[in-house]
Amino acid sequence: MDQPLIEVKSLQMYFPVGNNIFGRRKQLKAVDGVSFDLYPAETFGLVGESGCGKTTVGRALVRLYRPTGGRIIYRGTDITDLDEKAVQPYRSKMQMIFQDPYASLNPRMTVSSIIAEPMALQQVPQADIDARVRELVAQVGLKQDHLNRYPHEFSGGQRQRIGIARALAMRPEFVVCDEPISALDVSIQAQVINMLEELQAQMGMTYLFVSHDLSMVRHISHRVGVMYLGHMVELAEVEELYSNMQHPYTQALMSAVPIADPDLAAQTRRIVLQGDVPQPIDPPPGCPFASRCRYCKPVCREAMPDMREISPGHFLACHL
Ligand code: SF4
Repeated sequence: MDQPLIEVKSLQMYFPVGNNIFGRRKQLKAVDGVSFDLYPAETFGLVGESGCGKTTVGRALVRLYRPTGGRIIYRGTDITDLDEKAVQPYRSKMQMIFQDPYASLNPRMTVSSIIAEPMALQQVPQADIDARVRELVAQVGLKQDHLNRYPHEFSGGQRQRIGIARALAMRPEFVVCDEPISALDVSIQAQVINMLEELQAQMGMTYLFVSHDLSMVRHISHRVGVMYLGHMVELAEVEELYSNMQHPYTQALMSAVPIADPDLAAQTRRIVLQGDVPQPIDPPPGCPFASRCRYCKPVCREAMPDMREISPGHFLACHL
């Protein structure tokens, strides 16, 4: 395999949430000890329930957040603790496509100025900006006469195209796609996904594709990581994960994916999880999935399972 574009080592992202009854500071552990590598031109899918920390991982990688602990290595350089000024050159190489295309676009700016903004901030010459804006508009399937219009004049799918054009303005090497299609009509979702795939083939970007849509993640990803309560519990190449999932949580998650074939669907058993999801504020020791796991043993409530490679490229965090 190539050298990783980004190495994520034991990433932690904690947020302060007041004090407990003894006056000690409480922390919400949104991400706690997540490690994985991202390779050039790959799509890495990150899945899990709402609140599992997958969006927080994406935001920390593009340094919208400063991590509480762990390391983020970008092309061999540790960018974890760089201050705002020092991180700027890396920011232009790492972009984010947001879930809500309307909320992420300034309603008072024209399409042209929205797409041009990242280049203007980096003081790209105006003539180059104008040419690049026209090129980007064509790449994302919009028309040149859209350039002087405002976001409210567009459909959801078109707004997401504007957001994608803005994200690609500085020719990034890494793009976090944070639920990029979940706010769109089903009929538009496939168009946006196909466009993201075509743009990746043209520009060679690495995607971190954050989603709860397991079918779409299977379609677009090369490798997939499964998160639960701030931890990565399983990671493998996409077909290996979907055909040979080992973690009890991954099995439950995948069992909920609708199956088009009625015969196959009749043979497949849905695993309904029992028990409560622990609070990410001061979570109990041991495996984060212990309170809902049907295979839970005493050791699971005492010791956190390490992430182990159980077959080439397939990693699992489970005492079983
Ligand atoms: Fe279940 Fe134990 Fe594995 Fe956690 S470590 S997933 S509780 S069997």
